[in-house]
Amino acid sequence: MNTRYPFPTTLTSYIDGQWQPPGATLLPVINPATGQTIAQVAQADAQETAQAVEAARLAHERGQWAGLATADRQAVFRHIAELARRHGEELAWLETLNSGLPLRYVTHGQMPRVARNFEFFADWMSQNVEKAGTQDAAYLRYVVREPAGVAALISPWNAPLALASTKIAAALAFGNTCVVKTAETTPLAVSRFMELLTQAGVPAGVVNLVHGSGAVTGDALVRHPAVRVVSFTGGTETGRAIATAAGPGLKRVDLELGGKSANIVTASADLDLALDGALAGIYSNNGQQCFAGSRILLQRGIADQFVSRFVARARRIRVGDPMDARTDIGPLANAAHHRRVSAHVAAAVADGAELLTGGGCPAGCEAGYFIEPTAVLVPHNQLRVCQEEIFGPVAAIQVFDDFDQAIALANDSAFGLVSYLWTQNLNQAMAGAQRLQAGVVLTNTTMTLDTRFPFGGYKQSGVGREGIDGMRHFYTEEKTVTVALRPPPMERLGAGG
Ligand code: NAD
Repeated sequence: MNTRYPFPTTLTSYIDGQWQPPGATLLPVINPATGQTIAQVAQADAQETAQAVEAARLAHERGQWAGLATADRQAVFRHIAELARRHGEELAWLETLNSGLPLRYVTHGQMPRVARNFEFFADWMSQNVEKAGTQDAAYLRYVVREPAGVAALISPWNAPLALASTKIAAALAFGNTCVVKTAETTPLAVSRFMELLTQAGVPAGVVNLVHGSGAVTGDALVRHPAVRVVSFTGGTETGRAIATAAGPGLKRVDLELGGKSANIVTASADLDLALDGALAGIYSNNGQQCFAGSRILLQRGIADQFVSRFVARARRIRVGDPMDARTDIGPLANAAHHRRVSAHVAAAVADGAELLTGGGCPAGCEAGYFIEPTAVLVPHNQLRVCQEEIFGPVAAIQVFDDFDQAIALANDSAFGLVSYLWTQNLNQAMAGAQRLQAGVVLTNTTMTLDTRFPFGGYKQSGVGREGIDGMRHFYTEEKTVTVALRPPPMERLGAGG
């Protein structure tokens, strides 16, 4: 079954435009729908990771990328986008095989985003100007932005290529070179993408890829002295470890971390729309999305009816082979994660939540890491199922009485990535946008990403923002140049009589 698009049986680092020979440590790459090993990935040790950083450093120093004319870099970006579209089916297939994300969702959701990442920056590159200060008659001051240098780009397994490509496009758009480390469990599509980057004209050494565990490869990458900035998407605990490792080198970090986002449905909501939104908010991408609306807060008057409609729909969601175009939900990404999510469901029930639906493995899916769409009704917000990120298809439903209480519940979280609000009351919509402590507030809609706007979290959901302004600050050094327009007033030391 793995032969539709061939891929190497051993995936290795891509350094300076070359696939490397495998080292001593090989990790299994598993198809989570079957539990079968489909390839292995060679872990880059500290030495090989340093080799990748050195290749990026040299490419940067020699101006192999930043030194190209903007029009040439634009052409490469457009070519990348075109290749990402042309090979979209293959990339989606590899991603699905390796991550268990439904092929339909990956093909129509994540893969177009890969191309759009490069198209966005191709347009932007020639439009960007910096500011000059002309108010002062004595001086002209202007700002130039220079690439930060070598960027470490570390990303997770829940949208491997979509997330890695966002970082690659941004790092390159601002003239940097980079070393990419995607999750060691999902290397297939990101590895294939390296070849497309080269084919599109990205010079050797500009984008390098290393594989391996966070503790070995990731840590070595973050600590390498030539790495100037670390862009990380992943779990909050890992974010903390990365910030700590980056601290001694005073490296800039961008941390896009976990969430426990509230999805507030008020009595004034368009309930059909809110129902679609609540289901998609928690169950799409196999429930593995940082912006999942995992705490569904329902106003008392509409709660009973909403819950019964939600449960009926959740039971009709098609769980199964992610390669099947009719499948809505595939398996969780790996065995350890499956055990974690299952343990969370058991803990919720032990803590006093009522299991409304799901929690088990769908019949016939026992070989893979499947879990049914699950919902629990919770008595209060302090349960672990309300406070800890589960990162699976598990909704915690709570009932509130008035709007103030809904806002308080939504904000009663260590996280602050996203808040969803469903209401047709304008005052509530505006008050919610003001009072919700989250980096992204979505009113009457599910998530839509737009690189022109910031994306990122309050509190434990992150530091920094992806989105054009945040990325510009993150990936560049700002330099203020001051030129005197006439002899400036200066002390004339030693010139006095
Ligand atoms: P993870 O933190 O375990 O791993 C992410 C990446 O970091 C992997 O490549 C991993 O190998 C690497 N890593 C782990 N330890 C490291 C270390 N000490 N040093 C350097 N690198 C290290 O995350 P995951 O389990 O793969 O992904 C799920 C998490 O990602 C969830 O918490 C989810 O909310 C979060 N996420 C956040 C966003 C966002 O934009 N905020 C988007 C997607 C996923």
